[in-house]
Amino acid sequence: MNISNSRRIVIKIGSALIAPDQDGCRARYLLTIAQFIVRCRSMGKEVVLVSSGSVAAGAHLFPEDAKNSSVVLKKAMAAAGQTEMMATWDRFFDFPSAQILLTHGDLRDLERYNSIRETIFTLLEHGILPIINENDAVTTDELKVGDNDNLSAMVAAAADADVLLMCSDVDGLYDKNPNLHDDAQLIPQVPDISEEIYAMAGCATSQVGTGGMKTKIEAAEKATSHGISTYIVNGFKESTFEQLLAGNNPGTVFLPYDEPMHSVQHWMTHTASEQGEIIV
Ligand code: GLU
Repeated sequence: MNISNSRRIVIKIGSALIAPDQDGCRARYLLTIAQFIVRCRSMGKEVVLVSSGSVAAGAHLFPEDAKNSSVVLKKAMAAAGQTEMMATWDRFFDFPSAQILLTHGDLRDLERYNSIRETIFTLLEHGILPIINENDAVTTDELKVGDNDNLSAMVAAAADADVLLMCSDVDGLYDKNPNLHDDAQLIPQVPDISEEIYAMAGCATSQVGTGGMKTKIEAAEKATSHGISTYIVNGFKESTFEQLLAGNNPGTVFLPYDEPMHSVQHWMTHTASEQGEIIV
């Protein structure tokens, strides 16, 4: 499945695209992404946006605490940055958007999970763009997903999407870290997510935001097992979105399982999973 023949797409945007200078939201990269969303919708596709960036967008409002990275402060940054981020997205669109803030606690409760699904479906039926983020201002360690890569996969499964597009700061998955090795090769297609694939991801993380290549592969595993084609692409390049609209793969695509898990089985395996711990 590619963008041209998809029906419902979840697009995940990382913090570095929203607030590249950690100094409030910037249109620099978002304009191209917003145009891509508009074009997908005009082609009849339904789009759900998972947007990171509340902490990065809110950081500039706390200048005296620039070196303080306490959890309490990050929650305050998230609360303040979230409205700035929503306002920024809203400026690009002449159709309405809606904010949904979630925690892992909401997703792993089946009743709340179904309620989230209903809300997403109702918004889509009415042509409203759902914009989803983790509710960072209220989460605790036990309640949070922690990174929006995994959150976007849970959302893609909940929304019955057929494509998950993770916009990153690299072109896709490489066989070794491209920042350290000049001869690193981009892997265009991953049919199976094995230990070897996880090893290729190493522990590279983003400078802004929480995720890295490892969380993207975890997300790809969650999404592909639900039958969702999952892409990692470079969100900083305009050509990425032109290629996607032409039905091409500008990054790495993780192919969906031939026999995807049933929805409830998927929810139990990948969403309800990490509930508590046993200490012996
Ligand atoms: N929810 C976080 C935020 O909006 C981002 C998490 C992530 O970077 O994956 O700042």
